[in-house]
Amino acid sequence: MKAEIQDHTKALEVLKEYKTQDGLDVDTLLDSDKHGALTYNDFLILPGYIGFAASEIALDSPITKRITLKAPLVSSPMDTVTEHNMAIHMALLGGLGVIHHNCSPEDQAEMVRKVKRYENGFISDPVVLSPTATVADAKELKAKWGFGGFPVTENGTLRSKLIGIITTRDIQFHPNPEDPVTAVMATDLVTAPAGTTLAEANDVLRSSKKGKLPIVDENGNLISLLSRSDLMKNLHYPLASKLPDSKQLICAASIGTRDEDKHRLQLLVNAGLDIVILDSSQGNSIYQIEMLKWVKETFPKLDVIAGNVVTREQAASLIAAGADGLRIGMGSGSACITQEVMAVGRPQALAVRRVAQFASRFGVPCIADGGIQNIGHIVKGLAMGASTIMMGGLLAGTSESPGEYFVSSEGQLVKAYRGMGSIAAMEDKKAGKGGKDSKASNAGTARYFSEKDRVLVAQGVAGSVLDRGSITKFVPYLITGVQHSLQDIGVRSIDALHEGVDNGTVRFEVRSASAMAEGNVHGLHSYDKKLYV
Ligand code: GDP
Ligand code: GDP
Ligand code: 5GP
Repeated sequence: MKAEIQDHTKALEVLKEYKTQDGLDVDTLLDSDKHGALTYNDFLILPGYIGFAASEIALDSPITKRITLKAPLVSSPMDTVTEHNMAIHMALLGGLGVIHHNCSPEDQAEMVRKVKRYENGFISDPVVLSPTATVADAKELKAKWGFGGFPVTENGTLRSKLIGIITTRDIQFHPNPEDPVTAVMATDLVTAPAGTTLAEANDVLRSSKKGKLPIVDENGNLISLLSRSDLMKNLHYPLASKLPDSKQLICAASIGTRDEDKHRLQLLVNAGLDIVILDSSQGNSIYQIEMLKWVKETFPKLDVIAGNVVTREQAASLIAAGADGLRIGMGSGSACITQEVMAVGRPQALAVRRVAQFASRFGVPCIADGGIQNIGHIVKGLAMGASTIMMGGLLAGTSESPGEYFVSSEGQLVKAYRGMGSIAAMEDKKAGKGGKDSKASNAGTARYFSEKDRVLVAQGVAGSVLDRGSITKFVPYLITGVQHSLQDIGVRSIDALHEGVDNGTVRFEVRSASAMAEGNVHGLHSYDKKLYV
């Protein structure tokens, strides 16, 4: 080969002679006249320059105008995906779980309460026992809440004189359940005075070697409580999604847009809810807009995510009505048949770009919801402008999702996963049955009778997904994978990715069907696809 240019050190200068950068900018990529409407598998992102380690990449990203997560990962409000256990662990790992509403308002509020109680700085409303409470009462409370350290005060309430503390070990093997707690409680208490800062209180707790540190006022009345296990949780989960003051986990839940959902929301807010998602497959409706306005007026401190939307026009209605965040996706979910049945929807990559680009002008963050099967899809959703990514099917097979594993007819370990618009999920809702782990209730029975003659048109299917182990391993795998992907692209953060896509320095390529086949494993006789250790 005869070289046209002999001086190789000029390569970077010569590069500047080209009018455009290699590959396509996002607008050319998504020009539907040229390529049709694209979704995640239809394109690739071109590599950039790596000038930093993957571990340096921060994945902080907003989920609403006010709240930012350290990991842009959200679990879907579906009754086979997110109840309190998933919500707690998603939040501990830096993401967020949205508790579903296919259960009674009371059951849903109870789940919110469990998330909010899970981790604390000062526990400002500790469960307190009165001197007449029995060992059996304490055991019952431990079974309900999962913790067994209870201060005992004269009146059995906060702001009453502290007289002792009962712990799990005091009651565990106590032979007589009818004995009063005063017979077994510890009375040699280490306490700290009201006004102590959290850092100071943590120091006292560390040096006291006790499990709990009650905070008392000058008259010995109980003001709040600190728990040693929170020091450990803080250490083990550095990314946890927490509020700066309370140090409680951020909790999100979904509701519908009917009148009775107002009562439901009141219960959720009483339980400490931070973010509500108005859950509808087509969010641009008078019902949602009215609900959104009502929520913003009634609970100004609550963040509201509206949706779902896939067009600029839908987004504009909801932004105008006060949405603090938007959820994007219609028909892209893995258990979803909306596009087939309703003929309505939009390929997800294009939907995310169109909505997120518009919403970003108002500072409204967007969640790309549905169709996520791997780390590549997460990154593509982010590249299209989403701030966070919502997953259903990908997380349904983890041990933190509701329900039990079972063995499929092919002998594989699986868990149930169903669309919320599947006949099975809709019938459970009408019959007032909760999600799989929540207690049955009669809350939905009235609706069942009033609507029993209506034909139910399914927009989803019911099936199962393979076991994925615990999200305590799976979510860190997703986070690390996204960091490596952004490193390949050459951007240090999600903000930088958005900026690079908008200014045309992050480039794309459309991929043909054969390019897609080339990009997947091919030509092997057999292989084992282990994704992480
Ligand atoms: P315990 O020693 O049996 O009370 O339980 P742990 O210390 O293992 O866990 C207590 C956890 O529950 C901590 O993370 C607390 O912040 C949390 N928690 C929330 N509300 C309360 C409460 O009212 N009392 C207690 N003891 N813990 C609470
Ligand atoms: P999705 O929109 O398919 O997610 O399901 P929803 O349960 O939100 O709504 C089902 C249907 O009821 C849709 O046609 C909604 O437009 C409609 N709908 C939603 N909210 C209300 C409401 O408050 N009142 C009435 N009458 N209809 C509603
Ligand atoms: P996945 O992560 O499994 O691909 O998609 C999860 C998303 O699918 C959910 O967050 C929700 O937006 C959507 N979804 C859940 N159930 C149904 C359903 O029955 N019908 C439709 N159209 N979408 C569903």
